[in-house]
Amino acid sequence: MSVAIVTGASKGIGKACAIKLAEDGYTVVVNYSRSDDAAQSTLDEIKAAGGDGMIYKADVSDPAQVKKMMRDVDKTYGGIDVLVNNAGIVKDEYLLMMSGDTLDKCFDLNVKGYVYCAQAAALKMFKKKKGVIINMSSVSGSFALAGQCVYSATKGAVNSFTHTAAKELAPYGIRVNAVAPGFIATEMIDAIPEDKKAEYLKVIPMQRFGRAEEVAAVVSMLASDACAYMTGQVITLDGGLSL
Ligand code: NAP
Repeated sequence: MSVAIVTGASKGIGKACAIKLAEDGYTVVVNYSRSDDAAQSTLDEIKAAGGDGMIYKADVSDPAQVKKMMRDVDKTYGGIDVLVNNAGIVKDEYLLMMSGDTLDKCFDLNVKGYVYCAQAAALKMFKKKKGVIINMSSVSGSFALAGQCVYSATKGAVNSFTHTAAKELAPYGIRVNAVAPGFIATEMIDAIPEDKKAEYLKVIPMQRFGRAEEVAAVVSMLASDACAYMTGQVITLDGGLSL
């Protein structure tokens, strides 16, 4: 049995990744922090398609909850093969108008959460000398979009973390890569005002937002042996936005 944990899999990109990895044959742990019904519906879709897994409620910005989740999953399934670090938040604010808690909230989940999960999962993968970690970054990590100074800083940190973790973990058979999507149609994008969305569409050469399933397809490929010699890379899929 191969086991994949997808953080933030109750909705959006994480949900699509969970469903795709289940189709690929993984037993999938659907992590989430609040949306019980949505997480259950991700698992229901997995099971309806013949897959298997469980939902696991844990706030991945809390190191104690992360450690417990990895321990419980390891105990239940006898190992962790793939971790998709996906749970993240965006808070678009201009630097000069930034509110007090934006910096802490974004870094706690988008950076510290990824590090907590990667460390705890790698300690389990280390036993098998095999594993894959995929970090959900963003094109904003390397391409400047006004209003995203904090979010982009967190995703830039994810990219740097991906490079260094890949170098440290390669000798133990653990590959670490990242996916950097552009605008993908999820609740995160629904929250953007219509006039701003229209502005963004104008600068995407493919003239559309991406689909969560298109991100999941890249995650599936990175998890597979097709990418057995690839580590430390950040794969952009943004419809040409950053060109
Ligand atoms: P989304 O639709 O808002 O979904 C976020 C997911 O994260 C939900 O399942 C949510 O579940 C979960 N979550 C939130 N806080 C959590 C916490 N503390 N612990 C565990 N789970 C938590 O977001 P999305 O658009 O799919 O984005 C997913 C990732 O892709 C993020 O890292 C984001 O930065 C990145 N990304 C998105 C886009 C885009 O255009 N959508 C582009 C580039 C990168 P609950 O509600 O149950 O907590």
